[in-house]
Amino acid sequence: MKTVALDTLGCKLSFAETSTFARRFREGGYLQVPGSEKADIYVVNTCAVTEHAAKKGRNLIRKLHRLNPDARIVVTGCYAQLNPGAVAELEGVWAVVGSQYKPQLYEIATAAEPLDGRRIFVEPIAASTSYFPAYSSADRTRSFLKVQDGCDYHCAYCTVPLARGDSRNPSIETVVAQAREIAAEGVKEVVITGVNTGDFGKSTGESFFDLLKALNDVEGIERYRISSIEPNLLTNEIIDWISAGTKFVPHFHIPLQSGCDRILQQMGRRYTTAFFAEKIAYIRSRMDHVFLGIDVIVGFPGETDEDFQATYSFLERLNPAFIHIFPYSRRADTPAAVMKGQVQECVKTKRVEALEELCRRCHSAFYEANRGRRGTVLFESTDRNGMMSGYTSNYIRVERPYDETQAGRLVEVEI
Ligand code: SF4
Repeated sequence: MKTVALDTLGCKLSFAETSTFARRFREGGYLQVPGSEKADIYVVNTCAVTEHAAKKGRNLIRKLHRLNPDARIVVTGCYAQLNPGAVAELEGVWAVVGSQYKPQLYEIATAAEPLDGRRIFVEPIAASTSYFPAYSSADRTRSFLKVQDGCDYHCAYCTVPLARGDSRNPSIETVVAQAREIAAEGVKEVVITGVNTGDFGKSTGESFFDLLKALNDVEGIERYRISSIEPNLLTNEIIDWISAGTKFVPHFHIPLQSGCDRILQQMGRRYTTAFFAEKIAYIRSRMDHVFLGIDVIVGFPGETDEDFQATYSFLERLNPAFIHIFPYSRRADTPAAVMKGQVQECVKTKRVEALEELCRRCHSAFYEANRGRRGTVLFESTDRNGMMSGYTSNYIRVERPYDETQAGRLVEVEI
């Protein structure tokens, strides 16, 4: 039996796409094996969001070629879309599959000869209008459901629009049909994901709010999380609706990027710190004990110690449940890459450490504030040394002695 191993570097969106490729290979009679094992075909879904992620992809391809020099390595994802020539030169690479050709990845990977005699299937991103529907089905507990792709925002530091193209989405009907497929597999929780998830509707004239309402009616799915959403796209109307009692949980991951208005402007972000603080206050006024995860970039070109201090103080006042911290990574062909005042790596490291310390304080304060409350937990099916764990609706991880009857079920507990 032919074997395939698939690896994902990067985001939940890529994870959903890799899982969809894996389903196609299994349908085609392939046995899926772990990436650490010898396989006939390796699929690597790469990431380009930072130089570190790109390097990890190159190293993984080299490692897989050493693992089985006879294997075909098929490389897709953002780094492959942006650097097809460099990827094709790596030993063992059978094909480079760009955004436009993801729906044909299986056929390209399994063809007897290189399809059309080609190894590179990458169109310029501007020409990439296709949408590759995807959801993950590797896990019995939750599934990542792709609802949108691409982005029209073009923030100064971001390479994603260059790799994934313009904002586009399938119809609500298509997404609902996929949610029903997920429900039929017995999965209880769905995380909706995209590049700019809240921008859903751009290519169909539908709205993100209508999508949420349609998904809420899908039988069998008991909880939804929104993977990440821009503050200007999380409308008060949606917040009111979610807080009025739906399957959408009180857990939001919202990119801030900087707590300094001058830097926000340089980044090309679409809000001010005042708008952001107001949005957070509004969410909290409607949902107490809501989990707020916030993204921040440190060391953006031109960020002074004072600017960083402004970000630190702003976050301290917001007191989120968690802070996702990213040192600025210079990405080719982005406006920020040529901006003056590039910050030294050692300065970025110091700023990351300062925010990590703040994050630890905020996170444990959030957990403490929930101690003794009642919560509903979706327990995962994994037995870890006789214990099982899961998340409450407001994203608190809890554990208890393993009980098979509770795996994959929503259970009310005292935290
Ligand atoms: S909104 Fe997000 S994905 Fe889009 S350009 Fe900005 S950072 Fe990148």
